[in-house]
Amino acid sequence: MKIRCPKCSWEPDGGEYWQCHCGHIWNTFESIGRCPSCHFQHEYTQCVPHAGGCDKSSPHLDWYEGLDKIIEELVEEVLAEQDVYQLRK
Ligand SMILES: [Zn+2]
Ligand SMILES: [Zn+2]
Repeated sequence: MKIRCPKCSWEPDGGEYWQCHCGHIWNTFESIGRCPSCHFQHEYTQCVPHAGGCDKSSPHLDWYEGLDKIIEELVEEVLAEQDVYQLRK
């Protein structure tokens, strides 16, 4: 799965560019936006201008390209399992 800024298409290079309000600095894409120190779930992720990106914030999940398709497949899988379950009843 590709990760890129929804606004400018900058791709994170694995650097630790994000700082939580608790002061922890980490690579937010390693933990899907959750701070490893205080476990706060960050809904928005800002792009990184000094690493070549823009300065806009976007919902964290919007950074994952192809996520819609993966969720679609997961939903289909769950529905298929439910079908099997209902057949067994
Ligand atoms: Zn934190
Ligand atoms: Zn950007």
